[in-house]
Amino acid sequence: MKTIGLIGGMSWESSVEYYRIINEEVKNRLGGLHSAKCILFSVDFDEVERYQVEGEWERAGYMLGNIARNLEQAGADFIVICTNTMHKVVSLVEQHIGIPILHIADATAHQINKLDIGTVGLLGTRYTMEQDFYKERLISNNIDVLIPMEDEIELVNKIIFEELCLGKIKQSSKDYFKQIIQKLVERGAQGIVLGCTEIGLLIKPEDAEVPLFDTAHIHAKEAVNVAL
Ligand code: GLU
Repeated sequence: MKTIGLIGGMSWESSVEYYRIINEEVKNRLGGLHSAKCILFSVDFDEVERYQVEGEWERAGYMLGNIARNLEQAGADFIVICTNTMHKVVSLVEQHIGIPILHIADATAHQINKLDIGTVGLLGTRYTMEQDFYKERLISNNIDVLIPMEDEIELVNKIIFEELCLGKIKQSSKDYFKQIIQKLVERGAQGIVLGCTEIGLLIKPEDAEVPLFDTAHIHAKEAVNVAL
């Protein structure tokens, strides 16, 4: 079994899910007392969020790159960055290490392609929804991407940072996300990418009439595929 190097804490609310899913998946596959070999470096999310707001992506990439190198030196065989947004700096992180990074959007695109879905709605942070670094990875896998309207992006982003990343799960926000999902479906989305690792804490498969692609689940399970 390979050792998974996890960069987490963005937020820790979703890193807990990664740790749980990865270990459950290894147990399901190997049985008995088997569990995952992994090393988790959990950051102080406040620092990362400041870099995001200030547009200091290079500094963020440098910081995550150093962490990835520490994980490599500690014995990790590959790296899993437990957030969609910070994949914006994946190429900077790669420059620091000699081991591969398992890209969250590639793992997600693979699952979307398996269901033969051509158009998805994307929910995530403002950075993930508005900028190209994430969408282009889906588009290069022949998947068209729809995002919510400007005012909706604002509120989705606010709910992520002011509620979900703080462990607050509110019925009013769940209802709002369901509405946004419905609008994306009416515009032609055949599936919805929960492109923020905390959204799966709020929205469950039964909350939509189309398939949901929970990136934290997909990424964690793909990490086990690679590890085994
Ligand atoms: N975990 C979130 C994501 O998947 C947001 C936190 C962050 O900005 O890294 O994008």
